Amino acid sequence: MNSIARYDVVVIGAGPSGSIASALLKRRGWRVLVLESQRFPRFAIGESLLAHCLDFVQEAGMLEALEAHGFQYKDGAAFVRGAEYSDIHFAEQFSKGFDHAFQVDRASFDKLLADEAARQGVEIRYEARVTKFDNTGTRPTLTVTDNVGKEYEVESAFVLDASGFGRVLPKLLNLETPSHFPVRTALVTHVADNAPLGAFDRAKVQIVVHPNHSDVWYWIIPFPNNRSSIGCVAPPEFMAAYPEPAERRLKALLAEDPFMSRVLANAQWDTVVRENSGYAANVRAMHGKGFALLGNAAEFLDPVFSSGVTIAMRSSSLAAQTLDKQLRGESVDWDRDFEFPMRKGIEAFRVYVEAWYDGRFQKVVFAKNRTPTISRMICSVLAGYAWDESNPFVAEPERRLNMVADLCG
Ligand SMILES: Cc1cc2nc3c(=O)[nH]c(=O)nc-3n(C[C@H](O)[C@H](O)[C@H](O)COP(=O)(O)OP(=O)(O)OC[C@H]3O[C@@H](n4cnc5c(N)ncnc54)[C@H](O)[C@@H]3O)c2cc1C
Repeated sequence: MNSIARYDVVVIGAGPSGSIASALLKRRGWRVLVLESQRFPRFAIGESLLAHCLDFVQEAGMLEALEAHGFQYKDGAAFVRGAEYSDIHFAEQFSKGFDHAFQVDRASFDKLLADEAARQGVEIRYEARVTKFDNTGTRPTLTVTDNVGKEYEVESAFVLDASGFGRVLPKLLNLETPSHFPVRTALVTHVADNAPLGAFDRAKVQIVVHPNHSDVWYWIIPFPNNRSSIGCVAPPEFMAAYPEPAERRLKALLAEDPFMSRVLANAQWDTVVRENSGYAANVRAMHGKGFALLGNAAEFLDPVFSSGVTIAMRSSSLAAQTLDKQLRGESVDWDRDFEFPMRKGIEAFRVYVEAWYDGRFQKVVFAKNRTPTISRMICSVLAGYAWDESNPFVAEPERRLNMVADLCG
């Protein structure tokens, strides 16, 4: 083994939560190392961003680079169910915040954020897989395996686990608990959609409900150059009734919906179809001695409202603030300062996700008689501002949503 390298903070993973957290801590003057198991660029799922993301990209000093990159501009979301269509525009939201976001191929987006963090002085080691964690001493130690299988140790004052679906510390420390949600499966790929101009609104993610099964839905996330990410989410037992392999299965599912069939009539399939199952995850605690969990390493709800990257980045911002105080010797309470506030917004999203699958949210979003005020408040949640408690649909999500669903019903 090499002699032990010492850092103020070590971050596991260079996805969005790892890059934002590491840059925020570096900007506050700390010596930060990111350990990333893969080589970038690499494929990742989660391509439709919410407006609130941009607050954290800006806080980390990366907004200019992001705006300059040429990602697909996104101004809201559209919902389709048979002949029904409803859209929301971030510019009309109740909360103060960004009126747009982007739809991004994550290989480029994640590389851009990681490169920006590195440009600001964060040390990033690729092909460095964290395999062990020891927090029995005064400072936590990580064991890392490099690209030729050599092991070494890294010591720091604190570890942030931003390993996403890798869930390094939840697994090593036995922190995982079952999610509130049943297992669902997503089939996902990228296509050259070749959709004619005006076939659909490319500035919005399209969320399309299956014509006969309200708990089965599709997405189209348009990118520039007539390319799109497309996917279908359904219970695994529903998917199992369709032919294999994954590409045939996805094509068969898409053929059942008139909107998806129309938009993708001339699509060219040129990318492998990936299957992703049982992604919903939770933990019994988001922090412990010498560590905190960011983004998907802590929890993941569901893809329907594109909330994953926003929750991930918000956790980075809050953890960086709390950790900065701790490293300066100030008193912090990780429950009060990090976990409880994080869980507040996650809980708001949870209510909306649950309401999507049991039909209440679909009732509201397709209702013709929704008032503009209510639309603006719901729009804010869908723009990611799920921590703005001046919004009644955030402060009391369940009660407000039930009230409106009853009225719309
Ligand atoms: C089907 C589906 C669709 C989705 N769609 C959206 C969407 O449209 N919008 C949205 O916002 N979110 C979406 N999400 C969620 C989104 O994918 C995640 O919320 C987001 O990527 C979380 O970011 P992160 O930084 O926490 O983790 P990740 O992006 O997963 O990054 C984690 C990094 O850690 C690295 N790592 C893992 N293990 C180790 C290890 N042992 N050592 C070192 N490094 C390691 C990985 O290589 C990876 O680079 C979707 C999720 C699913 C399942």
